[in-house]
Amino acid sequence: MKTVATGILEGCFGCHMSLLDLHEEILDVLGAVEIVYSPIIDTKDFDHADIGILDGAVATEDNEETAKKFREKCDCLIALGTCSSYGGIPGMRNLFDLQDVLTSVYGDKIPSSDEIPKHLPEVKSLDQVVKVDYKIP
Ligand code: SF4
Repeated sequence: MKTVATGILEGCFGCHMSLLDLHEEILDVLGAVEIVYSPIIDTKDFDHADIGILDGAVATEDNEETAKKFREKCDCLIALGTCSSYGGIPGMRNLFDLQDVLTSVYGDKIPSSDEIPKHLPEVKSLDQVVKVDYKIP
């Protein structure tokens, strides 16, 4: 049985919701693979997976770290969704200055904490950070 790990970068969670939208057909999937790591199950980490699936764009240092961890631990890495494949909606940030984007959202109260992942200067698609084997936009 193949092992699968799934993860989320900068996105809306919609790609993972679309997996759940398989409804009862998800039972066929769960019969064919073992999910070793995913936001939809209660695991904190994983050592290895045959297949890794990441949705969302790479917009923060935290996203970059997750992308590299998945590449290291997964034999095959799949970019799921437009954000992961091409930058998608998060990638629209690249059309503007990062500080202007933050100011337009938070005004003069931009959150600042070591616990908040730092934004990368530019949002990237997954394959701009690590080698990707397949894209499913
Ligand atoms: S591609 Fe991006 S915006 Fe679309 S559902 Fe996936 S995470 Fe959400």
